[in-house]
Amino acid sequence: MALKTADEYLDSIRARKLTVFYRGEPMDSVVDHPVAKAAADCVADVYSAALDESLAPLMTRTSPLVDEVVNASNILWRSRDDLLNRVEWERAVGRRTGRGALRSPGLDAINSLAIVTQQCDQAKGTEYHQRLLAFIERVQREDLAVSGAMTDVRGDRSKRPGEQADPDMFVRVVKQDADGIYLRGAKAHQTSAVHCHEHVVLPMTCGPDETEYAVACAVASDTPGITHIFSRQPSDSRRAEGAPLDVGLPAFAGCESLMIFEDVFVPHERVFLCGEAEYTQELVRYFGSFHRFCYGGCKVGIADVVIGAASLIAEANGVRNKSAVRNKLTEMVHLNETMYACGVAAAAKGWQTSAGTFSPDIGLANVTKLNVTRFPFEIARLAADIAGGAMLTLPSQADLDHPELGAHVRKYMAGNPSVPTQQRMALFRLLEFLTHGSGAVYFLHESLHGAGAPEAMRIILRREVDLSPFETAARNLLAGA
Ligand code: FE
Repeated sequence: MALKTADEYLDSIRARKLTVFYRGEPMDSVVDHPVAKAAADCVADVYSAALDESLAPLMTRTSPLVDEVVNASNILWRSRDDLLNRVEWERAVGRRTGRGALRSPGLDAINSLAIVTQQCDQAKGTEYHQRLLAFIERVQREDLAVSGAMTDVRGDRSKRPGEQADPDMFVRVVKQDADGIYLRGAKAHQTSAVHCHEHVVLPMTCGPDETEYAVACAVASDTPGITHIFSRQPSDSRRAEGAPLDVGLPAFAGCESLMIFEDVFVPHERVFLCGEAEYTQELVRYFGSFHRFCYGGCKVGIADVVIGAASLIAEANGVRNKSAVRNKLTEMVHLNETMYACGVAAAAKGWQTSAGTFSPDIGLANVTKLNVTRFPFEIARLAADIAGGAMLTLPSQADLDHPELGAHVRKYMAGNPSVPTQQRMALFRLLEFLTHGSGAVYFLHESLHGAGAPEAMRIILRREVDLSPFETAARNLLAGA
């Protein structure tokens, strides 16, 4: 059985010796540290879900590569149904965790590399595709969590990798020998990287004179020379205060790190591209588009929670049946299902690649993400409108638990008498977490910048959507005029 239990997963990460710093101090355990624990538990939930009878049909697939049932986070897509399933399980996990499926970037990395390595091998006689398949086979058999490490720190944004004053602004190969290659540089915003077993390092687009930057490879997370600087998030330290009510979502979270490579050794058999700069643009196009497509499930699942919380707050405030509130909730549903519909459409219009795998429709994947750069903000605005000021001004758990102040808090924070005051406060905090606290990193800022800034989608749409058939249609209607 290839599937790990959540505890087996957590133990396997606990056993790894990683170099991680949080606020200038070494983080001893990325599984047990109070600020990192909920993010580890969120990855663990994707393991739990695969073993949950009701979710297993979504969360697992039989892989012909290993002839076993494996987690859907580690498969190569073999049909439109696999793509559609991805939207569904992303939504289910988003709804379950209020955060999303943190193993997704690795899934996009292996699927984009599968296409590009096959093309490269065919044209240049390299052996990258077989190496990649061997890697995926091990990932599936051992049910490993894989991160997709693409975003370089990029220094001066007006300059290409080879033009930077400091050559390390994009991850590059600094040395090669008979055994392998050595990587230097840093990847930014590495979601859950500290909670993964493997990192698939991908290049950003580079030119023919920038071959040292054209590198894709798999790096085990405990390889010497990797240092993580754990990112701060809004209100992150509330998790260390022993007051779960103030956290908003105590069970789950996400985390990022700045992942620094100091001459990290990677054996040749783990290298999937090295110097073939002409394939980097295509790789970025596929990886970015695959990740954009998944937001039609993952952000939709988080929005489900935002909408649910707003509706329950309306009830706790005694106004759920007011038409103004119902109209706002309906508007939120409309926006959310529009994002979902785009993800479903990108899957339904999927096509078979030259590697035999499936890709979602690239144009629709980018339309999905462009909607996601805007709609969650509007959904959050409507939720805040329904919630009112208390969402960001309510007293703390310490005040609620206080022997004297507690009575004041219970009396003055009461709303609809059928909803207990503490429950009303917990709903405010949940919505605060999702739209202003560390959950907003995912529901809002990642919706804007994850998988590329909005302009990256517009560039793809300009390139992929040919306007000439539309012009022909207009011209045809004027024939003879
Ligand atoms: Fe993302």
